[in-house]
Amino acid sequence: MHTPEEEARAHDATDPGHRHLFHVPPAEAGRYPEVAYLAGNSLGLQPRATRDELLADLDDWRRLGVEGHLEAGRPWLPYHELLTAPAARLVGALPTETVVMNSLTVNLHLLMVSFYRPAGERTRIVIEDSAFPSDSYAVRSQARFHGLDPDATVVRLKPRPGEDTLRTEDVVDLLAREGHTVALLLLGGVNYLTGELMDIPAITAAGRAAGAVVGWDLAHAAGNVPLALHDWDVDFAAWCSYKYLNSGPGALAGVFVHERHLGGPALPRFEGWWSTEAATRFEMTPVSRPPATVEAWQISNPPIFAMGPVRTSLELFDSVGMPALRARSLRLTGYLERLLDEVTADRPLTVVTPRDPARRGCQLSVRIGVGSANELTKRLRHEHGVIADAREPDIVRFAPVPLYSTYHDCWRVADALAATVEATS
Ligand SMILES: *Cc1c(COP(=O)(O)O)cnc(C)c1O
Repeated sequence: MHTPEEEARAHDATDPGHRHLFHVPPAEAGRYPEVAYLAGNSLGLQPRATRDELLADLDDWRRLGVEGHLEAGRPWLPYHELLTAPAARLVGALPTETVVMNSLTVNLHLLMVSFYRPAGERTRIVIEDSAFPSDSYAVRSQARFHGLDPDATVVRLKPRPGEDTLRTEDVVDLLAREGHTVALLLLGGVNYLTGELMDIPAITAAGRAAGAVVGWDLAHAAGNVPLALHDWDVDFAAWCSYKYLNSGPGALAGVFVHERHLGGPALPRFEGWWSTEAATRFEMTPVSRPPATVEAWQISNPPIFAMGPVRTSLELFDSVGMPALRARSLRLTGYLERLLDEVTADRPLTVVTPRDPARRGCQLSVRIGVGSANELTKRLRHEHGVIADAREPDIVRFAPVPLYSTYHDCWRVADALAATVEATS
């Protein structure tokens, strides 16, 4: 007979993941030396390779001064191009459709300059009611920027009464009925709160058939689930790199614009000297000549020391590959779900993430029926060395990340919850 903990250890021996490539913080609480880190959906852990790569870029500046633009080990002028192909592979895009720049909400605004163009009765922006606040503020401020009333312009999709997540058919129905009033559909690919993975191809097709522009916020999807943005005909997308992409706090973000919008009759766009064709950048002409790629959406010369960590991380995703990561993710999250089922059965805890593995990434969100989510995560941290994150008032999110989380981490979550939340029977 094996104890559940021994079983978790046995799973780790046969399905080890890539934890050795990461720094895992010390626990300083509970019975184990390292934390059980389930918060990679909020901020990914630091890859061991990042520090030296970053220092090499810093040394080039020390050694070369301005000449580093052309002579650095990784020359600064074309540095961002090193990130393009791996970022494109990650989201299923062409390299011409992908660029790494700025941060997520800034990119959403720059993309809406091009893609939110209210006209006639087609003015509305559809988001989820549980959209991340930044997205909600962004679309409301875009409505105001166009002289529209945000309350009348922004439509918030709610789950059916008594349900926690959206149904694809309800989104598709709304688009069929009211799509002629929708200028922009902007949803989270994976919802930050519930962990629900939307049916991106079906909803994109329905939105485009209704004549709307369809954009996706992939903050919780990039590096978490396989994506095929080009084939799914998505108009545009944006994502950050500090969650599943492990590129550090506030890391540079990614942008996708579908090929059909590139070149052609110019979309409205805000430009700067990085929007112009790289070969002509130093001709210092007064009028830009943007390339027929998404690089036309770049504005400023990029922060080089912020690019290194993204490059290092994307190399990791390239070497392991999303298919292998998704396969391990399904095993690990399925395992955590089985353990949580046992703990939640007789406690005021409910998993609100869809049970169908095809409708979620690695995150499982638990609604707590008694007490505060913040209080519970504090106790998990300080009494058990388990790091999860709370979204007040009542959601605690656990994300076993396939790159570095272990079965033993999942076991520690269930064990800590059982010890912390009193059983009702
Ligand atoms: C994390 C997250 C953000 C954060 O926005 P920043 O511009 O990176 O600060 C925005 N939207 C969603 C959906 C997120 O999950």
